[in-house]
Amino acid sequence: MDTIDLRSDTVSHPTPAMRAAMAKAAVGDDVYHDDPTVNQLEADAAALLGKEAAVFVSSGTQGNLCALLAHCGRGESILIGDTSHIFRYEQGGMAQLGGILPQTVSVQADGSMRLDELQAAINPDDEHMPKTRLVAIENTHNAAGGVPLSAEYTAQVADFARRNRLRFHIDGARIFNAAAAFGVEPKTLAEGADSLTFCLSKGLCAPVGSVLVGDAAFIQRARRARKVLGGSMRQAGVLAAAGLIALHEMRLRLRDDHANAQLLAEGLSEISGVTIMSQNTNFVTVSLHGQAGVNSQDLSQALREDHQILVAAYGGEESQFRLRTHYWIDRAAIDKVVKAVGALLS
Ligand SMILES: *Cc1c(COP(=O)(O)O)cnc(C)c1O
Repeated sequence: MDTIDLRSDTVSHPTPAMRAAMAKAAVGDDVYHDDPTVNQLEADAAALLGKEAAVFVSSGTQGNLCALLAHCGRGESILIGDTSHIFRYEQGGMAQLGGILPQTVSVQADGSMRLDELQAAINPDDEHMPKTRLVAIENTHNAAGGVPLSAEYTAQVADFARRNRLRFHIDGARIFNAAAAFGVEPKTLAEGADSLTFCLSKGLCAPVGSVLVGDAAFIQRARRARKVLGGSMRQAGVLAAAGLIALHEMRLRLRDDHANAQLLAEGLSEISGVTIMSQNTNFVTVSLHGQAGVNSQDLSQALREDHQILVAAYGGEESQFRLRTHYWIDRAAIDKVVKAVGALLS
């Protein structure tokens, strides 16, 4: 990748090791559970997250939707963050396809929802109201700037769910970034949850795929949901082969991405007119607010045209842009970005 693409970690290409593993992967018809590579990926994913079973799905959106369809019936509701990916960026699939209602609760700056607000949002047992069935959190929290949620907070939500007889789902698209940030085993961050979805793409570089984990009976229901969504695949071992490398090798180097994000934030913070809004895990959010005559859109265009550097700019008053590090962004790239931004703003 010649371009330095910091718009998202979703732009990461598969590694050479992944391409080689994909070429020689053993495969079978996964609808018959005959694909040994998919079976291995599902078994390893379940073990890593401390759950009984797993199902390989095409995307995080599909994994979250399979989970909600497997946990909830029509006319039931879920407690969900108002800035969460499930609520804002998955087209309301739960309502469109499952007849499930979202009840939103404010997400705080640290990515959490307050327990008293969650408690207050539960519907009483009243025939006028949808029955509240589930609570979902997001780790790391995307809209809150990639902030990781701790095992302690997760345990509090698990306890809240148990006391109120709610199911508990984690949208763990970047759960391994959270585990790397806290230096804990991934299963520590899944403890007490009934289900969790994570992405093999993004920072882990697999070209396609997510995994949903939970207990065996839940995963059986989730497989039915995946089927009706058109998500059952045949010789998916070619994809799972990349997923296995994501899970066992790429997961262990996410700390490098976090260190690079920190270097980037430190470098940029020394440039006059630049304010670092946040730096968590592999996310950096930058503001140019107050920088006379330059907004983030102009800067983003100049970075692209003059330096082949891509960033995601937000328009309007805020004049912010977002940078996300990943495997294909090394220290040399970080230095180039800091120099380029410095030159354009001087
Ligand atoms: C990326 C992401 C998803 C899943 O998105 P897909 O594009 O469907 O894979 C879900 N939740 C969060 C927080 C994400 O960042």
